[in-house]
Amino acid sequence: MGKTNEEIIEEMQQVVNQMVIDDLEENPDIAEEFFDCDCCGKNKCLAGSIRYGDYRLCNDCVLLAETGFALGKFTDIQSLMDAMEDSRLEQLCNFIKNEETRKKHLEN
Ligand SMILES: [Zn+2]
Repeated sequence: MGKTNEEIIEEMQQVVNQMVIDDLEENPDIAEEFFDCDCCGKNKCLAGSIRYGDYRLCNDCVLLAETGFALGKFTDIQSLMDAMEDSRLEQLCNFIKNEETRKKHLEN
């Protein structure tokens, strides 16, 4: 108690940033390794990513998740996944749109 939300968020940012630094120190090669984040759907660097149960989250989403947990916004990862559903769909739509644009480009 006694901590403001801003302080909690700041603390989480430091913790989550540190995860990237630690991961890269442990294995510098993962700076070149990417995966599709189960939460935001973006293709993200493995450094600083975390597995929560069946999901692997990128560092940005880890920050969202951990901040959400710390602030009591979510109690489990599934709640976050549900909350992210919409923006994940948006990502997917953008990806498909980009693919279509590229195809059109090739045809012309
Ligand atoms: Zn993500």
